[in-house]
Amino acid sequence: MNDCIFCKIIKGEIPKDFIYEDEKVVVFADIKPSAPVHLLIIPKKHIAKLQDLGDNNKELLGHILLTANKVAEMKNIKKGFKIVINCGPDGGQKVPHLHVHLLGGWRGGVK
Ligand code: 5GP
Ligand code: ZN
Repeated sequence: MNDCIFCKIIKGEIPKDFIYEDEKVVVFADIKPSAPVHLLIIPKKHIAKLQDLGDNNKELLGHILLTANKVAEMKNIKKGFKIVINCGPDGGQKVPHLHVHLLGGWRGGVK
């Protein structure tokens, strides 16, 4: 997927600070944050959308969500945060590479 912006970020073709990285995922800050903490958790493998996953991807999906826990702890927002996955263009997904939005940092509750 040469023209995928998130693949370019993963390959280092677009410089980006990774908050977390392992063999399956990378995490970096959203360029246009919608919350005090707004991170994107992204599989290294190019998968366009959630609907493209099947039974053989259960481990990857679990890994992505557990990564959310891990980075929420790193960012000191584990007490409360939101997970958003926009699924396909009709679901508001603009970047066609699966990503989980991790949103938080509203002290005292969501405004
Ligand atoms: P979607 O609407 O596809 O679920 O969300 C895509 C998200 O990616 C948006 O929140 C947008 O701000 C973010 N985004 C798009 N391009 C870039 C980029 O080049 N770098 C970063 N860090 N975030 C991006
Ligand atoms: Zn991609």
